[in-house]
Amino acid sequence: MTDAMSQMIAEAGRLLGPKAEITDPSEIAPWVSDWRGRVHGASPAILAPASTAEVAEIVRLAAQHRVPLVPQGGNTGMAAGATPPADGSALLLSLRRMRQIRSISAANRLAVAEAGVILADLHQAAHDIGMRFPLTLGARGSCTVGGLTSTNAGGTQVLKFGTMRSLVAGVEAVLADGSVHSGLGGLKKDNRGYSLDQLLVGAEGTLGVVTAVALRLVPAVADRAVAWAGVDSPVRALELLRFLEARTTSVEGFELVPQDSLDLVLKHIPDTRAPLSGTHQWHVLIEATTADSNYAIAAEIERLLAAALQDGIIGDAVIAANEAQAEAFWKIRDTISEAERAEGQTLAHDISVPVADMPRFITDAAAEVERTFPGVLASGFGHLGDGNIHFHVRAASHAAPDWYEAEGAAITRMVDDLVTAAGGSISAEHGIGQLKIDELERLAPPGRIHAMRAIKHALDPLGIMNPGKLVRG
Ligand SMILES: Cc1cc2nc3c(=O)[nH]c(=O)nc-3n(C[C@H](O)[C@H](O)[C@H](O)COP(=O)(O)OP(=O)(O)OC[C@H]3O[C@@H](n4cnc5c(N)ncnc54)[C@H](O)[C@@H]3O)c2cc1C
Repeated sequence: MTDAMSQMIAEAGRLLGPKAEITDPSEIAPWVSDWRGRVHGASPAILAPASTAEVAEIVRLAAQHRVPLVPQGGNTGMAAGATPPADGSALLLSLRRMRQIRSISAANRLAVAEAGVILADLHQAAHDIGMRFPLTLGARGSCTVGGLTSTNAGGTQVLKFGTMRSLVAGVEAVLADGSVHSGLGGLKKDNRGYSLDQLLVGAEGTLGVVTAVALRLVPAVADRAVAWAGVDSPVRALELLRFLEARTTSVEGFELVPQDSLDLVLKHIPDTRAPLSGTHQWHVLIEATTADSNYAIAAEIERLLAAALQDGIIGDAVIAANEAQAEAFWKIRDTISEAERAEGQTLAHDISVPVADMPRFITDAAAEVERTFPGVLASGFGHLGDGNIHFHVRAASHAAPDWYEAEGAAITRMVDDLVTAAGGSISAEHGIGQLKIDELERLAPPGRIHAMRAIKHALDPLGIMNPGKLVRG
């Protein structure tokens, strides 16, 4: 450990008190690897400030000693952005103790939540005042407002409400020099030049430490209809979405599930069963909601699905008869990654292309990858209506244990090349972190990288904010 690091740890300990500085390696261990367990880092300490003022003090100390900080929320990120470097040269800055909801107002339709507030707790707080924070995702029990903001997370309701970027009304953050940017005013209109708040959304901790966020709320859901439909291709799935959108504004979730993913869930996840009796090559999970308790949402979706069936767009469909069944449908969707992990080695790609091109992209890209790498299985599932699919490539059943290391990079390059050629993005919602930084540099237009580096240099000239993530200095 360098002298600067030891001094920093000693001074931070005096500042925060012993309970807020963890140096016991066994307590640090769960937080230095990424959620998928693929990237392993090291850090001599976790600092856990409880207020914006304490974060600012820590950042000032870090600047003084030139010690890099890795901000971390729930550590559920998919790009290893919150994983420290393996040489132990950075400190983890956990925001998990900052978990107050400072204010919440149905009249303003705003909540101001500290960075460490868990998404599920925010959902509950909004629900308690008859409102709703409409972004949700599988990690809601552990991901935090700071992490969601810093990765510009998406989730399953983007179709109607957009990503975090559309739901963030303002950000409070400690910048790299220890100054505090306070953007929590919640103004609907504010044109005083560059939006630092929006710059911090999706910055992955490389420009500052998010300490609190003003978040937009919408009226609570009075009723929802959750349906499962079988279709014979992704083209038909998108046709179904457009069919529904032309007739109702209530659809807010529309998830594509291939039969193969459904089979894996049924095989590995307890208490799951196929929603439809017949076999379909592809499936869609549809969620429609209403804030009006007099509106017969289930009847509307039933009528529309019957019409889609008659038009030959879908092969079959079922509407969840109750909340338990609705949750069971969502469980299938939410456990696909877990089931894949149980099955064997999988390479995940969170990609987007223009929505109308996605159905063809899925089938063409899967065929090309399977042809080039014999034995692998490629497919896509997820947010079809956003043009965002989790394009996963599974190792052949007889693959060697080091398949991921041996073939993974070449497969990913191929997928990323196909995505780029299709005018898409190699990271739709998971961010760049350290996993995709090389591919971003390889494939992004030079102007984008140049601008990102210029912003990074301007706001973090000492390079102490999560170095080695998103953009190299
Ligand atoms: C089961 C599962 C399902 C998921 N589904 C989705 C999905 O549908 N859509 C989606 O977009 N993502 C999804 N994710 C990914 C993940 O939940 C999100 O990226 C989430 O936003 C990460 O929040 P976190 O608090 O865990 O952040 P972390 O993993 O701790 O950090 C993520 C990044 O943000 C930075 N960061 C964290 N807190 C701060 C802060 N306060 N200030 C500055 N930087 C900070 C970190 O340095 C890191 O770069 C899923 C993850 C899991 C495990």
